[in-house]
Amino acid sequence: MTTPVNVTVTGAAGQIGYALLFRIASGQLLGADTPVKLRLLEIPQGVKAAEGTAMELEDCAFPLLAGIDIFDDPKTGFEGANVALLVGARPRTKGMERGDLLEANGGIFGPQGEAINAGAADDIRVLVVGNPANTNALIAQQHAPDVPAERFTAMTRLDHNRALSQLAAKTGAAVADIADLTIWGNHSATQYPDVFHATVAGKPASELVDRSWLESDFIPTVAKRGAAIIEARGASSAASAANAAIDHVHDWVNGTADGSWTSAAIVSDGSYGVPEGLISSFPVRAKGGRWEIVQGLEVNDFSRAKIDASVAELVEERDAVKGLGLI
Ligand code: NDP
Repeated sequence: MTTPVNVTVTGAAGQIGYALLFRIASGQLLGADTPVKLRLLEIPQGVKAAEGTAMELEDCAFPLLAGIDIFDDPKTGFEGANVALLVGARPRTKGMERGDLLEANGGIFGPQGEAINAGAADDIRVLVVGNPANTNALIAQQHAPDVPAERFTAMTRLDHNRALSQLAAKTGAAVADIADLTIWGNHSATQYPDVFHATVAGKPASELVDRSWLESDFIPTVAKRGAAIIEARGASSAASAANAAIDHVHDWVNGTADGSWTSAAIVSDGSYGVPEGLISSFPVRAKGGRWEIVQGLEVNDFSRAKIDASVAELVEERDAVKGLGLI
């Protein structure tokens, strides 16, 4: 039997964790031939609930699930991890300023980066889901100097999937007919879903939708979809976030389909004027287990302004965590 892949999931007892773990154990993260060992990391108050989830995982008798361990210490939780899904984060509570939020998360993601640096497997791949995801990923990455920076990523795949679905609904096309959409920048309200290179059944999307729909409907709907789901469901999105995390890691490991691209927040190499080292969303393809930024796309003035605004927010967040001594 193939050696199991160690997958560490933080915030494992949370609602995204609950939607995620069963799909990982069933083989949807890494493929139907790859056994997995789950390493669930929680804060001490979350351990009991994680034990309950582990009991349910056992009761599924997944043939690919080679073991489950539960931890409340990052040092042991990340030991030997090949894949790490960092879902647990400190949510913004009433009256909390942005600086407080960044500081609280720095206290989580700094030590997690150090633990990954110290004990994860050489091929570790990290996806940060917990918000503010891009900056949390940057904090973890900066605390893991021995791990190649490209192994730290943040999730914008849910924004990408939301954009695909909105464009499909507007044009009456199937999601599968849409290619080459991009989410740029931060996973926040400033993110920029870009359809200027997208095609719908081979036709340029920009010829099928008008600018006013893009500006007043599409972009705000994609950016504010999370709030709309909370309003409707009475709880934040969980299954769709878990689904996007699965898509991200699955593509990273197995490659994106030939020709097409997707979106992920990865460490910038300076492409498209995004300062080097920021973790920002780009159009990306995965090949041979690595993300590559799609190069050479023309960026019109409308897109330039939107990308610059989101990147400016990332620069501010980076400067704030630097100012707090978190990186
Ligand atoms: P969820 O599982 O619903 O969410 C977890 C994180 O994912 C939050 O930061 C949330 O951000 C973020 N997120 C990113 N994208 C989305 C999206 N599209 N929709 C919803 N959330 C998104 O949170 P729970 O409170 O249910 O569970 C969190 C768990 O994490 C708890 O069990 C807690 O004990 C644990 N935890 C673990 C830590 C650790 O391992 N060190 C540290 C802190 C908490 P947002 O808040 O902006 O919605």
